Amino acid sequence: MARIGRLAFLAIAVVFHMIYSMSIFDVYFVSPIVSGMEAFRVEVAKAPAKRLVLYVGDGLRADKTFQYFPDPSASSHDVSTQEPAPLAPFLRSRVLEHGTFGVSHTRVPTESRPGHVAMIAGLYEDVSAVMTGWKLNPVNFDSVFNRSSHTWSWGSPDILPMFSTGAVPGRVEDATYGHEFEDFSKDALELDIWVFDRVKQLFKDAETDAELNAKLRKDKIVFFLHLLGLDTTGHAYRPYSKEYLQNIQLVDKGVQEITELIDDFYDDGETAYVFTADHGMSDWGSHGDGHPDNTRTPLIAWGSGVAKPVTVRNGIAPGHEDKFSNDWHLDHVQRHDVAQADVAALMAYLAGLQFPVNSVGELPLPYLATSDKEKARALLVNARQILEMYRVKEAHKMETVVHYKPYAGFADAEHSTEHRLEIIEKAIGDGQYIEAIVMSHNLIKLGLQGLRYLQTYDWLFLRALVTLGYVGWIAFAFTTAVDAYMLDGKVEASRSTISIIAFGSVLVALYSYLFVSSSPPTYYAYGIFPVMFWEEVFVRRRALVEAKNKLSSKLSKQDAVKLLLNLLAYIGILEVMVQSYYHREIYTIAYLLAVTWPAFYGMAFVRKNWTLCLTWALSCTAMSVFTLLPANKVEDSNLILLGGSLILLIGVLYIVFEKSLLVQAAPAREGMGANKADGLSRALIGVQVGLVALAMVVTRSSVTSLQAKQGLPLGTQVVGWVTLVASLVVPFLHAFSPNDNYLHRLVIIFLAFGPLFIILTISYEGLFYFAIATTLVSWVRLENRISQAASTSNPTPNGQPLASELQNPLKPAIAAAKHREAALQSGDFRALTLSDARICLFFLFLLQSAFFSTGNIASVSSFSLDAVYRLIPVFDPFSQGALLLLKLLAPFALVSANLGILTNRLKLRGGSLFAVVMGIGDYLTLRFFWEVRDEGSWLDIGESISMFVIASGLCIFVAVLEALSETFVRGVRFDGGPVSTGAVHSNGGLNGAAKGSGAKSKGDKSR
Ligand SMILES: [Zn+2]
Repeated sequence: MARIGRLAFLAIAVVFHMIYSMSIFDVYFVSPIVSGMEAFRVEVAKAPAKRLVLYVGDGLRADKTFQYFPDPSASSHDVSTQEPAPLAPFLRSRVLEHGTFGVSHTRVPTESRPGHVAMIAGLYEDVSAVMTGWKLNPVNFDSVFNRSSHTWSWGSPDILPMFSTGAVPGRVEDATYGHEFEDFSKDALELDIWVFDRVKQLFKDAETDAELNAKLRKDKIVFFLHLLGLDTTGHAYRPYSKEYLQNIQLVDKGVQEITELIDDFYDDGETAYVFTADHGMSDWGSHGDGHPDNTRTPLIAWGSGVAKPVTVRNGIAPGHEDKFSNDWHLDHVQRHDVAQADVAALMAYLAGLQFPVNSVGELPLPYLATSDKEKARALLVNARQILEMYRVKEAHKMETVVHYKPYAGFADAEHSTEHRLEIIEKAIGDGQYIEAIVMSHNLIKLGLQGLRYLQTYDWLFLRALVTLGYVGWIAFAFTTAVDAYMLDGKVEASRSTISIIAFGSVLVALYSYLFVSSSPPTYYAYGIFPVMFWEEVFVRRRALVEAKNKLSSKLSKQDAVKLLLNLLAYIGILEVMVQSYYHREIYTIAYLLAVTWPAFYGMAFVRKNWTLCLTWALSCTAMSVFTLLPANKVEDSNLILLGGSLILLIGVLYIVFEKSLLVQAAPAREGMGANKADGLSRALIGVQVGLVALAMVVTRSSVTSLQAKQGLPLGTQVVGWVTLVASLVVPFLHAFSPNDNYLHRLVIIFLAFGPLFIILTISYEGLFYFAIATTLVSWVRLENRISQAASTSNPTPNGQPLASELQNPLKPAIAAAKHREAALQSGDFRALTLSDARICLFFLFLLQSAFFSTGNIASVSSFSLDAVYRLIPVFDPFSQGALLLLKLLAPFALVSANLGILTNRLKLRGGSLFAVVMGIGDYLTLRFFWEVRDEGSWLDIGESISMFVIASGLCIFVAVLEALSETFVRGVRFDGGPVSTGAVHSNGGLNGAAKGSGAKSKGDKSR
């Protein structure tokens, strides 16, 4: 293999990170669905209920269901309605007099689909299923509906089809409204009214339709009412809003009407009712992560077969220990919490259905109105059903694994599942029901642990493989950087037949093992990267040795110690970055420390560049504020306009002072400032500034009408889109009037993303955009002044940089700058030196802070959808998510443009800094890979996944940014330096002398 080109390197970076970021799904989140199980049913003479009604209030939080509020529907002047009262009096009456209640704890991701799957199918879907199909099923699974004789369902087209399509044909009937009906800006109560009306219509039709009437009177039927209104109002107005509370009132009234209607229709008292929610809703109107507000949903069951409330006369009844329900005024009623999958088992039991075969739910016995004997029998069946899953999975594992090691809990005859089941049967026969219940409960637990054991069977092997891959990538990236940017590609690879055979046989052995274990195709992909990377590192070991010699020949012992200390400091900084994922405040401290950075170059330097140092200090201070603000923002049109005004101000100031600024920026070359600041260029900047102003006007108008719930006027929406598109297109027109000054280029890029930021801003993000832009520009200018200061203070710029920079680790840039100046004069590219690692760390830091300053890592859902409704008012997760992503990425464009300019300015070959960044960035990825959790607190799980995904996403992103920065800085001239031309880029290839295909295509492209 010839030395790879720069583009090839980027391509490998992207492909590797994409494939490896999927690895957590193979390691941690493997689908629990298997097939081939026998179905089990609790055999009783008569089922507890003839039919079951399931109400799901999509996005209903447990506390809001029960807390007291002043009547949200009444006018605020009416004093009599200010007295707090329950919002759902009917549901409350079920809890107080008729049934059993508790909190149903859901798992992450707290989204509608996994929530419904858990409560209706009894299984916790793996996260990857959610990634591959937000709406449609990748796999068919069994469900309570599928076990019914017939199910009628009404609700959202996003939810119902996943239960009807996988079921026995004709068994599950669904009636859905159209997607366009889910218009976020309108009143979402309509969604629930639609469902209630349809149900009423069905029973009305039955009066005249004899066939339907007969069908409705069959046993084992299920009605499912999916009430999406709450989710929609929760997103749009947040759970404390009067809209959300009013929606609860409406749902309660609807549930009451339907319950009474059904009771009247059958008039046999043989209907069981379950009311619950798929997930909760956070205070800022989102869900998805493991915040308790998202995972705690209400569960109320009543009707035939359901136990009546257990109350205490004095004090607090059991179940309220967590104090969560303190303000529900239900202290005297016993609360029975369940895991969400338990709801499926409960429903199957109540309607006399078989348990769904993949269900991991445990029957919540306190909900059953039956004798201990029946409870013991039912739970035993439940245990059998879960052990059946274990049996099938274990058989499957035994077939595929070379040396299967059975689960210790069931390993010998004494502890086998059959033996344990016999003991429980005997206890029931002997009338020891309570003992039998305890044993069944323990057996279920053990069975679930056994399933867990099988689920994590491959972990050690897979995690080792993935770690080898990441470490291999880091080694590969550094080898590439050393080889191409430090040694200028002078050391040839020493690939021999023996090395090819050796690495080839490793791959063959690995693949054979994967084949014998019937591994999924992705495993093969995980396997090839470590072998490939390590092979490349191995054959380039001479380059590494060479680099080491180059270093050590100039190193005294003292220097070596300093080098080591430097490296340790860099790793320390990386570790700080890891911690910053957990504590955003670290950015605040880091920015405040950064204020003092220029002082390390001496007071004389600060005095000479005091305006620049002041700008740097002010912008760093401004940046330090954002990570102290709450990440969960509330819409604030004043802040939006303030941020917009600052962006506008920069544009206007630039137009006014353009000439003098450009003169200032080019002090080294007289007369260069008075360059082509011609009419067209000024006019285009003017248009860009105008678009920023327009964006402010249109955003203000859409915020006003959305807040007033008048929907989004079509005109406003169109103007918003036109502004957005125009702001991204107009900058390209600058090609007709090129101005190669770097400041000019940065202003264009800054203004290009300005309108996008204003339109999609919720509160302070506009201010952040302004602050990070000034920080970046001051950084680039400071680096420039530092190298200028170094070159004037040291008139002989031919010194070897490495030794001197090591003598004072705090001044590496000055040392490196000497060499840079030499390179500048000769027009060469300088080699990468150790001090550039500091620039890479700065870059990585700015990159991460661009991400964390406006969002909270703990919940990706903190990136609220609020702003996106201004452009797309109808729920459409993919387009809305794409827009949101665009907004998140806009600051990165600034960061990358600045690094591109810096690379250019520092006379480094394009891509050299990026290669190092990509290497060190994966330190974070690997750290977070091992931190991923698939059990424990659901908050931790969600967080751990987000961190890994973000860290590895950033690595992919750096690769994309490099390509971007190439475009951004093409032809840019930096403060009197020569114009960066196509020739620069063709030299910028990894091959040094532009002999690789990647380098060539770069050179061609820039022409
Ligand atoms: Zn939702």
